[in-house]
Formats: sequence, C-alpha cells, structure tokens
Amino acid sequence: MKIKNVLSVLFLLLYSCGSSGLISQEEPANWTRFRYPEINFVNHAGGTKGWETYNRIIPDPEKYINTTIIEVVKTLYWSEKDSIPDVRKINYELRDIDGISAKGGNPPEITIFYSSRWVEKSEKDAGDGKVLFETRGVLLHELTHGFQLEPQGIGTYGDGGEFWIFIEGMADAVRIHNKGFPQGNRKPGGSWKDGYQRTGYFLDWLTTKDPDFLRKFNKSTLEVIPWGFDKAIRHVLGQHQGVDALWNEYQDYLKKS
Ligand SMILES: [Zn+2]
Repeated sequence: MKIKNVLSVLFLLLYSCGSSGLISQEEPANWTRFRYPEINFVNHAGGTKGWETYNRIIPDPEKYINTTIIEVVKTLYWSEKDSIPDVRKINYELRDIDGISAKGGNPPEITIFYSSRWVEKSEKDAGDGKVLFETRGVLLHELTHGFQLEPQGIGTYGDGGEFWIFIEGMADAVRIHNKGFPQGNRKPGGSWKDGYQRTGYFLDWLTTKDPDFLRKFNKSTLEVIPWGFDKAIRHVLGQHQGVDALWNEYQDYLKKS
C-alpha cells in the first residue's frame, strides 16, 4: 500500500476514535497535565518482514503509543487527577516469536511484547490497513492492563475467577469502546464469565445504561471490597440490577438486533 493510503487509513482510525463519543457528553478534563510514561521502544525483530512492515507503517512508535495511552486513560478515568496507576516507564518490545502480545511487570515499570510474526500475518491477510487496525487494537488491550485498577479481596489473576474476568473483560471493553475490533465480532451466547470479548462487549453495552459505566466499574475496585461482579454492577447501576439479570437482557437485545 502506498504511503498516501497508509496515511488516510491512519487518519480514518484517528478520526473514528475522535468522533466515537467515548468521552461521553461533556468532556470533563483536558488532560493537559497527564504525565506520559517514558516509552522505551526495543526492536528484537530486526531483519524480519514483520519489523520491516511495522517500521514502515509506524515510523514513530513513541508517538503512536502515547496517542493510544491517552485514549485508554480517557476511557477509564474522568481526569488526570483520578487515582491512576503511576506507570512511569513502558518497555515496548517487538519480538520474532509466536503469540500476539502480552503485558508484564507492574507500575512504575511495565513491559509490553508485540509479535513481529503477528504483524507479518496481518500484512499477509489484508495489508497495511489490517496491520494498523490490529496493532492499535492489541495496544489498546495491553495498555489497559497497565492503567486499569485491580479488584481487591478476591484472590489473584492466576485463580481464573472474577479477578481474571474483570482484568481481561475490561481490557477488551476498552478496545471495543474505542472501535478496536472488526465489526461483527459481537455475537449472542456464552457467559459474562468467559472473559475477553464476551465479557468486554457486555461491559461496553452497559454504557447504554450509564455512559460512565466503564469508568465507574473501574473505580468500583476502590469502593467495593471484597470486590465481585454482581456487587460492583449493583454499586454502579443501582441495587435492583444484578449481573445475571442484565446479562439476560443483553442476550435478548443481541438476539433481536
Ligand atoms: Zn489481556
């Protein structure tokens, strides 16, 4: 794809996030005082086709990552004055290994790996536009892990319980809310306990009940201790609506639409 086309894809992506209404009606803060972390971009995939493509499409990864960071924090918080995990440094590593992407470490310093093989596969599947779309989508998910709050008093991520469902569901909810998945990915079926997109689309749908749902749900981890899905949703939306009733309502809506 020609550079002009790449730029228009990038413009379209930026434009579509800017106009997606993710900041709900009134933008509460201008975020000029937000402290961006230091981005330490490390290329471990030199000489691969994936790196060649990445480098051609994203010549300034630091700027690209910072643009995505602000989308993530605006989805999770009202303003830079909120209680946001203090990520001071992000090591972003392109690696020639299998898998897609993963986040490691905890604030103040986190590491995000991204697979040059995934870049190569996306390029092969559908060209530069797909690489940009995928890279941004995956980055939205992993950066959410850096900046999201965590449930308290209900074990750990490794238990695979509601802690895990929250962490992975919210990461995909933020990706969904910022239009980071292909249209048509939302389907009926499954359970709110499935994590990732299944949970993420449900959480994003709950913004139709309250435009600030994702921010309030994130913040509920500071207010509902021990944390739990049902308790947190009732805390945010009112005591009368529990997670199972809302899930059923959501399924009915999906089947009708
Ligand atoms: Zn994840």
